[in-house]
Amino acid sequence: MTKRIICLFGPQGSGKGTQAKILTAQLHIPHISTGDLFRAAIASRAELGKQVEGILNKGELVSDELTFNLLKERISQNDCKAGFILDGYPRTLTQAQLLDDFMNVDVVIVLEISDAESLKRLTNRRQDSITGAIYNLYTVPKPPKEIERRLIQRADDTAEAIEKRLKKYHQQTEPLFLYYKNKVIRVNGEQSIERVAGDIERALVL
Ligand code: AMP
Repeated sequence: MTKRIICLFGPQGSGKGTQAKILTAQLHIPHISTGDLFRAAIASRAELGKQVEGILNKGELVSDELTFNLLKERISQNDCKAGFILDGYPRTLTQAQLLDDFMNVDVVIVLEISDAESLKRLTNRRQDSITGAIYNLYTVPKPPKEIERRLIQRADDTAEAIEKRLKKYHQQTEPLFLYYKNKVIRVNGEQSIERVAGDIERALVL
């Protein structure tokens, strides 16, 4: 089997995590989110977690070097041999170049949503503190009553941090579409989860 490296891009709340999970099930390659790797380091009180906690909470970016080293360690593991889906990496040109020197990206999928939609989705995003399942308070399905009590909000899902993260996305991450040129596939992220997944599936077989 040839190695398949897929990058998912899109503003915060565009559904990268949701679509990555669907792709993982279809392609049997792991979903790697640098945000999740950082959050796991924070939760386990690892030294790295202590270094990055303040940065994440403010909606700032972790340094390119630290982020790439963490990613490199993860994608060097056995389960990534046939490929992987990147979510949240690269976010800067330097990060893209560091990755390219190590492994080449095959395809870049951009989930397009407006800033207004991103803000609306993220301020209403909640997570089940036990299972990690993601809910949105303004869409269906609504979380069951017994789960509602234990829903938490991500520390960086405040209006202030979201605006900062969106600005960084436009300034630092969007220029990467030019870098990846003909590897880029744009998908309308403001459709239902199923329709977005269908568009991605069709684009990947082309
Ligand atoms: P995410 O879950 O992708 O929204 O990432 C949450 C936070 O983790 C970001 O706001 C950054 O602070 C940090 N982070 C995740 N990925 C990267 C990256 N590729 N470069 C720098 N910081 C990152």
